[in-house]
Amino acid sequence: MSHLMNTYARLPVAFTHGAGAWLWDSKGKRYLDAMSGVAVNSLGHAHPQFIAALNAQLSKLIHVSNLYQISEQEQLADQLCALSSMQEVFLCNSGCEANEAAIKLARLYGHNNGIEMPTIIVMEKAFHGRTLATLSATGNRKVQAGFEPLVSGFVRVPYDDIEAIKQVAAHNPNVVAVLVEPIQGEGGIRTLDKHYLAQLRKICDQYNWLLMLDEIQTGIGRTGKWFAHQHTEILPDVMTLAKGLGSGVPIGACLAAGKATGTFKPGNHGSTFGGNPLACVAALNTLNIIEHDHLMQNALTIGNFLQQGLRARLGNIPGVVEIRGAGLMIGIELNKPCTELVKLALAQGLLINVTNDNVVRLLPALIFSKTEAQQLIDILCPLISEFLSQPA
Ligand SMILES: *Cc1c(COP(=O)(O)O)cnc(C)c1O
Repeated sequence: MSHLMNTYARLPVAFTHGAGAWLWDSKGKRYLDAMSGVAVNSLGHAHPQFIAALNAQLSKLIHVSNLYQISEQEQLADQLCALSSMQEVFLCNSGCEANEAAIKLARLYGHNNGIEMPTIIVMEKAFHGRTLATLSATGNRKVQAGFEPLVSGFVRVPYDDIEAIKQVAAHNPNVVAVLVEPIQGEGGIRTLDKHYLAQLRKICDQYNWLLMLDEIQTGIGRTGKWFAHQHTEILPDVMTLAKGLGSGVPIGACLAAGKATGTFKPGNHGSTFGGNPLACVAALNTLNIIEHDHLMQNALTIGNFLQQGLRARLGNIPGVVEIRGAGLMIGIELNKPCTELVKLALAQGLLINVTNDNVVRLLPALIFSKTEAQQLIDILCPLISEFLSQPA
């Protein structure tokens, strides 16, 4: 019996090493990795230049504490702000912590503006993390069940429904912010109407609300831009990042701009590990390598190639509801629960995931090649066709 707490239903495979988009298990079998550790390993596995930079930092400093100035943090904050046009950055270690910071910031912003019971609008099917505040913001009963009482101060609306936002605006004077994923990840790779964020930005300006984007899964080049909202003209007031930011080294960030800037003062928030030199060097090198190797362009090219290939092979098959996403964040929605596809793919040496019960999710590393994309199509499409041809 394992002494690990039973928090994951793990697949029966253990990996020993990786290179690029490939992983090897303890028996020597090779797998094409179309998940990259759930959008974490932006640069794939064992990227030589990334490893060299981490090694160099390891022999200098791993951690010192935020009691002191940390030049790597300053550099990372400068770079994140340059890429996003945001103004300030709080560094932490994970996605839920980045969202936790955003939620605290929104509440403090509300109190500073005379709102005693600040409320944040969140979305159905949203995923924001597993801490008490972020699971309360999450729109999935499975994540919340058993952990009541939930944190109060959230109102929920349907995703991609601007009228629902207007309804809340008309009736709830306690709203201080809206928290939304530009593409819902765990919720099933659900996308927004292309005008939604601009309309939401307008409402936020009108009511003095913070527009807070959870770009934890969509950010860091995955959709073909540094941040998914950059496919539109809008700027958020708060943006959260994690997953792909450190290419496997844990790091998260909460960025603020405009009227959110300057909300936190010394003593309002903190993190012991947050932004330590090793994590910051990992993030800085992730960003530099993405830029230098044109990996956002690659995400776009390979993502389009994948979507076209998947559409050509699956588009007309009964049971395939929709193929959607942006860049290397792709969902294939089927008309029935399909979790068993994960094991069938594993047996064929392919790592995929199923989210929201019936959506096959693909999140390959940004270094994915056309050959690898074709291999993915060639393994996955027959599995899906055969799965759908079986009686329910
Ligand atoms: C993964 C994820 C989180 C939570 O990140 P953790 O690092 O697991 O805490 C939050 N929001 C979104 C959109 C995510 O995809």
